[in-house]
Amino acid sequence: MRESYASHISRIQRRQPGVRVMRIAVASGKGGTGKTTVATHMAVLLARGGEQVTYADCDVEAPNGHLFLKPNALGETVVSRFVPRVNHAECLHCGECSGICRFNAIVSLPAKTLVYEDLCHSCGGCSLVCPSKAISEVPHPIGVIKEGAAGAVRFISGTLSVGEASCPPLIRAVKEKLPETGWTILDAPPGTACAFMETVRDCDYVILVTEPTPFGLHDLALALEVAKTMQLSCGVVVNRARPMMAETRDLCRSAGVPILAEIADDIEVARAYARGQLAVDAVPAIGRAFQQLLTHLARLQEPAAATAAVPGGATKETIA
Ligand code: SF4
Ligand code: SF4
Repeated sequence: MRESYASHISRIQRRQPGVRVMRIAVASGKGGTGKTTVATHMAVLLARGGEQVTYADCDVEAPNGHLFLKPNALGETVVSRFVPRVNHAECLHCGECSGICRFNAIVSLPAKTLVYEDLCHSCGGCSLVCPSKAISEVPHPIGVIKEGAAGAVRFISGTLSVGEASCPPLIRAVKEKLPETGWTILDAPPGTACAFMETVRDCDYVILVTEPTPFGLHDLALALEVAKTMQLSCGVVVNRARPMMAETRDLCRSAGVPILAEIADDIEVARAYARGQLAVDAVPAIGRAFQQLLTHLARLQEPAAATAAVPGGATKETIA
């Protein structure tokens, strides 16, 4: 008989009390696939099962997990990175700083040395090479981190300041807030660029959310390629699933990654989303897909379970 999710989890917790259970990133090759729906449901359902859970919204350019989790008592921390400031009275206009900067963020002209803070990657190289110590490093705010609680779920969310071009420093700051114990669900930015990679790096498992459309298929293929390059263990959740989605199944099969759950295409789920309501509260039947997903993840903890799948790797997920 199939073991229930709750007993499965509690057995794992008994084996490893008080330790980090899993850090799971929920990602997608494209926006609008239901990534936040999956991430917020996982967090809430784990908490309802008595688990210690942290939800971290790393989609810092457009965080929206708060719309569904409705956290309260949010505290805010401003996050800054360091950028160079030139003391023009000390500057020799030697060009050493602009010579070392790979990002053209500091330019030494005959009359003035200019800093372009948006281009700066805060490496500190220019201040190190400046022969006259004319460069100091000053904080440049890039966004805020909000922390609070959504029921039993610990809530963390990063919001990038308007006009900021680079997400990874803020995502790194969000991840520094993560606890070492319990479950952590990271809501990743869409796409497969550096913000995605910064989020999924160091995670135990990555859930790629897709939809059975040509766009969804195309971007899932890209995400699987990146996962393969990064040697990430991952599985797929198909949102707005329908009976005929052979291409999605074929792609997952050829990549050697499992489809962990399929969330049915249901207008009531879309209506709940539009209201900012958890779909599982509006359409209880949807809960079965999430329970299936969580059971899969819980079984990854077991020594006897198959090694988690790295796309294209030699190992294959065999969880039924
Ligand atoms: S800190 Fe690094 S990236 Fe920024 S201006 Fe200096 S050399 Fe360029
Ligand atoms: S390295 Fe220092 S002294 Fe030389 S141009 Fe840059 S700021 Fe001026």
